[in-house]
Order: sequence, then C-alpha cells, then structure tokens
Amino acid sequence: MNVLLASAEVHPYSKTGGLADMVAALGKFLAQAGHRVGLVTPLYRGIRGRFPELRRFELPLAMPLGNQTVSARLWTLTPVPGLTIYFVDQPGFFDRAGLYTENKAAYPDNADRFIFLSKCVAHLARHLDWRPEVVHVHDWHVGLVPLLIRHQGWHDAWAKPPRTCLTIHNLAYQGIYPAEQYGLTNLPWYYYHPDGAEYYGRLNLLKTGIAFADALTTVSPRYASEITTPEFGCGLDGLLRARRGVLTGILNGVDYDEWRTAGNPRLPHSYTAEEVAGKAANKAALQRELGLAERADVPLFGTITRLEEQKGVDLLLGALEEMLPHDLQYALLGSGQPPFEAAFQQLAARHPGKVAVRIGYDDTLAHRIEAASDFYLMPSRFEPSGLNQMYSLRYGTVPVVRATGGLDDAVVDVRENLASANGIKFTGASTRALVQGIRKALTLYQSPEWLQYYRANGMRTDFSWARAVAEYETLYRRLLGLSSSK
Ligand code: ADP
Repeated sequence: MNVLLASAEVHPYSKTGGLADMVAALGKFLAQAGHRVGLVTPLYRGIRGRFPELRRFELPLAMPLGNQTVSARLWTLTPVPGLTIYFVDQPGFFDRAGLYTENKAAYPDNADRFIFLSKCVAHLARHLDWRPEVVHVHDWHVGLVPLLIRHQGWHDAWAKPPRTCLTIHNLAYQGIYPAEQYGLTNLPWYYYHPDGAEYYGRLNLLKTGIAFADALTTVSPRYASEITTPEFGCGLDGLLRARRGVLTGILNGVDYDEWRTAGNPRLPHSYTAEEVAGKAANKAALQRELGLAERADVPLFGTITRLEEQKGVDLLLGALEEMLPHDLQYALLGSGQPPFEAAFQQLAARHPGKVAVRIGYDDTLAHRIEAASDFYLMPSRFEPSGLNQMYSLRYGTVPVVRATGGLDDAVVDVRENLASANGIKFTGASTRALVQGIRKALTLYQSPEWLQYYRANGMRTDFSWARAVAEYETLYRRLLGLSSSK
C-alpha cells in the first residue's frame, strides 16, 4: 500500500513527546513491511545542519492562506528504503527556536503555521507521483487534512482522493482558535458548524479531523474507550461517541533498535535479562553523574516527563515529600510548567545526595535514567499511550503506574496475573494511592528474587512494532475495501 503520514514532530528530527517517537517508528516499520511510505513534517531550525544528506525535492508549494499566498520548498531524506521524509521548508513559519512555543508562550501564529502545513500535506497527497492511497495524520496540527482532502474530492475534480485516518495522541491538545482563523483554511463556511469545524464559537482543528476522517485511532485500546466518556472526553466525547463505529485503539510499539540494553551507544554498560550486572553498573554511573550517594543497596526511582498536570507531577511532589524519610533515591528529568520546575529543584536542594533533578530535554540522559533506575514512577491522570512504561519494562526498571490508558494496557500487576507480573499499578489519582505504590516498590526491593522475577518478566514483554504495524495494515486495508489477507 502507499501511505502518506503527517506529523508536526518526528524523531530524530524534532521531538517534544511520544508523538515524535511513534510517527518515526510507524513510518520505518511500515516501510520495512514493504509499503511505500511518505512522511510530511516541518523543516525546523537546525535540521539541515544535523542532516546534511537532505536533498531538494522539486514540487512547487504555493498555498493560499486566507488572503495571502505562502510558498515553501521541499527537502527529502530516505532514512530507510521505502520511507521518504518530506520536510516543508517555510522559514517564516518554522525556522524558530521552538516547535510550538518560545519562553513558555505559544507562538501567536500557530493556526497559520499548522493550517499551512496541513495544506502542504493535502497538496502532496494529490501531486506525489506515487499516489498515496491512505493519508494518515497525527494530532491537531494536521487535523484539517481530512477535510481538505474530502472537500477537494467533492468539489475540485480530484477523481479518487485517498482515504484518511486521524490518530489522536492526546485529546487534551485540540488546536482551538478564534472563529476568524477559519478564514485561513479558504474553505467554504458551510463546514463551520457544531458537527464540523466549529466548537463553541471557535475553530477546533482536532475536532475537524475527528468529524471528517474516514477512520480514527488512539494509541491504546483503553484510551479509545475512555475518550468516549465525559471524564476523559475533553468536551468531544459526544462527537466521539457518534463516531465510535470508526474509532479503534492500537497500542504503540517500541522501537527496540533505539531502546535496547545491549550494545546501545547511549548506555555506559550493556546488560540483558539473563545478565543484569551491567544494570547495577549503570546505576552507579548515574549516581556519580547526578551527585546521588553512590550506593548499590538503595532503591533508585526515576521519572522522565513533561512537567504538566496530566503527568500527575503534583502527585509525585506530594508522595515524594511523604516517602523521602525512607531510604530511597529519586532522579527526575523534565521540563514544563515553571512552578513544577521550581518545586522539583527545591526538593532536590532540600535532599542533596538523595534527589537529583535535571530541568531540560536530553535524549541520552533519558536512556541513562531508564537503565539505571530500579523503579519508574508514572502517576498520570490520563495517558493516551505512554511510552516510558514500555521503555522501563525493556530496561528492567519496574514501572509503578496509575491504571489508566496505555499504562493499564501495558503493565501487569501481580493481582491481575502472577505469571506475567511486571509492574505495580494503583487506581486513584491521589498522593495516597501513589504512596501505596511506592511502598509496594520498597517491599519488592527487599526481596531480590521477586525483584528479579518482575524485572525478567518486564524485559521479556514484547511491544515490538510488528504487532502494531499489522493492526495498522488491517485498518488501511479495511479503509481501501481490500480483503484482510496480504
Ligand atoms: P507524552 O508524549 O505525553 O509526553 P510519552 O510517555 O508518550 O508522553 O512519551 C514521552 C517521550 O518523550 C518519551 O520518549 C520520553 O522519554 C521523552 N521525554 C519527555 N520529556 C523528556 C525530557 N525532558 N528529556 C528527554 N526525553 C523526554
């Protein structure tokens, strides 16, 4: 099949969260399964310097954007055979210090930037000579694409437009803008109504995608059902219930080429489920690096996260406050809301040698923390997929998670299944529930055989992309009206 993907971020070119990892892996593994895959994404600052092998691609892009016309150039890269990345080079929009924000403030022209990107995606879908059959877009930034394609199919002599799929990575981010910004779409206003692009008097780009895509997916099965409820539906649960027939959940996979414990250049020491000594050596190395007391016999907890309420970081602060009198260490890497950044830094200052906090974004430190920690804390209020619990399992780091979304789908608590237990789950979104989870972890740490049992189970748990890609293939084939066999 010929599949065109589109996303505002793609690892390793640009990344603020799991979206970048997922889209990169989906593209790579679809291509490896024999499909022709394209992936459209912005050319942000610095990409050309880091990837000098980028090549110009001659396809003129001059898009109407409200009452202007905006032009862009295209660059391409083929990281694996069968996968072409199309970078949209529009310096005015994308040659900036941040992807979406700068100095913690959203760029005021984000509607212009991502409506423009969406138009480029629809244009490529129509004019690439390899004729994409499915256009699969990710999150609100490209949420307009399904409507642009549908409109051109209905009114603009596009004889056989591709089928469209929208994956919702996080329903909490919808791309909501003042009604006048709808003018940037250059679409007729009859799509701007409560069953279409309008949301309480404003333009909602994710909702537009939900209303007009041929298929909808979320990045875990549990989240697909959660978002049809008022509790998790972020105001869109009614529309999502109406579209339940085309909504499925496909749990993200993990790219085990990137997240591997043996022969990984990001890790000081290799280890495996059978030979875990290297994990202890990674722990000692991280303790040294972060200024934690260099002790093998103290449980080390880790977290790598955006510092947002969604991730339950306020619960973390409360639970750590209560548990730090116990013999444990904690390492956090993250960035986000300034009050949370300050609170974690203060916690570290009050507990030198016991708590280490690094504010910022650092891909290789993320690997070192995952490899060094004994336990990984993830008390999310909601979690569309969550990758770090899966990375933790592979790295032999027992995840302590709230049972929601992809965390619930990926982690097995001993109460569910003794034979495959690989983590600790708690239910409530409260400090108390998280404290209970940490207490269980401390108990587990006291029994080395049990700890090793959990660890080995986790390291053997398989979230490879083969399964997820097979599910996307089935979905695409269904969209194209093909039989389900290959
Ligand atoms: P989300 O996409 O909601 O942020 P996920 O768990 O799905 O959460 O994915 C987060 C990804 O971003 C993981 O790969 C995680 O390691 C990475 N990440 C988050 N914050 C940082 C950071 N400060 N430094 C390095 N990597 C980070």
